[in-house]
Amino acid sequence: MNLPDIAVPQADPGAGYRAQKSEIDAAVARALQSGWYILGAEGAAFESEFAAWLGGDPPARAVGCANGTDALVLILRGLGIGPGCTVATVSHTAVATVAAIEMCGATPLLLDIDPDTFTMDPDELAAVIEEPPPGLPPIRAVIAVHLYGQACDLAPMLDACRAGGVALIEDCAQAHGATLEGHKLGTLGIAAAFSLYPTKNLGALGDAGILATPDPALAERIAAIRQYGWKSRYVSDMTGINSRLDEMQAAVLRARLPRLDSNNARRREIAGAYDAALEGGPLAPPTRREGAAHVFHQYVVRTRDRDALQGRLRAAGIGTGIHYPVPVHLQPAYRGRVPLGPAGCTETEAAAREVLSLPMFPELTEAQVERVCAALRDL
Ligand SMILES: *Cc1c(COP(=O)(O)O)cnc(C)c1O
Repeated sequence: MNLPDIAVPQADPGAGYRAQKSEIDAAVARALQSGWYILGAEGAAFESEFAAWLGGDPPARAVGCANGTDALVLILRGLGIGPGCTVATVSHTAVATVAAIEMCGATPLLLDIDPDTFTMDPDELAAVIEEPPPGLPPIRAVIAVHLYGQACDLAPMLDACRAGGVALIEDCAQAHGATLEGHKLGTLGIAAAFSLYPTKNLGALGDAGILATPDPALAERIAAIRQYGWKSRYVSDMTGINSRLDEMQAAVLRARLPRLDSNNARRREIAGAYDAALEGGPLAPPTRREGAAHVFHQYVVRTRDRDALQGRLRAAGIGTGIHYPVPVHLQPAYRGRVPLGPAGCTETEAAAREVLSLPMFPELTEAQVERVCAALRDL
């Protein structure tokens, strides 16, 4: 069979660059001409602009770093979490979430998800905090992953963490700008990690990350850990790593941050068009959590017949993605080794077999959106 070219890619970071080419080119030129390339004025300005955009009460402090994985590592290390600690999270996430826990020397505990929202089952979390699985070090932290751009069921998770003296860290790598009961995600836990990978809702043109916390002492500790544990140059007050944000990426991100909210609005508009096209058909549109504003990092449908659906869309020139095809606990590097919650990961495994992500990025043209909608109406 001769397949048509992909007319509608699933993601297109180049389109994001082209949409702001002159501002981004000017920002890069400014960074290049400054003669200062790592942890300088651009990085500091981006940190304060990002913190101001995030808000929070008390206001967030932000610390730039090399990528989203490191943002999680830095938070965990800043909280003193390492060997002898368990960190609970989900298996239905980017492998980065779990990798970060092990990079600190802590033990991940992978819990199952709620099948409608694909986020952590809060009842299972409460159960393991109340009665920790035998043989594991004590649970010191939870990483709540706001997957696909939608909030976890955070209120009961925060209650369970508070009751058990456990730190709740938000993984906001897919949720820049999403809210829960009017609060921006990333302002509700002890600290939050944001990936700024090119395809994320706020993306650099290379690797970058940022983390935020309302706790100034934690922010200061983390800022030291990201650069060899230095508080002043060449003096390591603690052991650290190297995870710095470079000036060129910071300059690009400063050019892009003012567009984040309107880009998220465009993602919602595209999601609304897909919803309407799916109406009356065999696929259900993604569930929206009540009280939460979704930012559609991904628009995800589920079907028992994924290969067929993917093939039909491909034949119509439409690209799709799978986030994620293999849960972390079934990956070769983790299989049989990472502990799971008492319920196992049945819903996680079913989701991994059934999820499909449709094209979703703000620069999709009306014609591209209509082409996807036409294919969805035809199912
Ligand atoms: C992208 C992502 C990360 C990791 O970010 P990197 O910048 O690639 O290190 C972590 N968690 C989730 C949920 C992600 O989607």
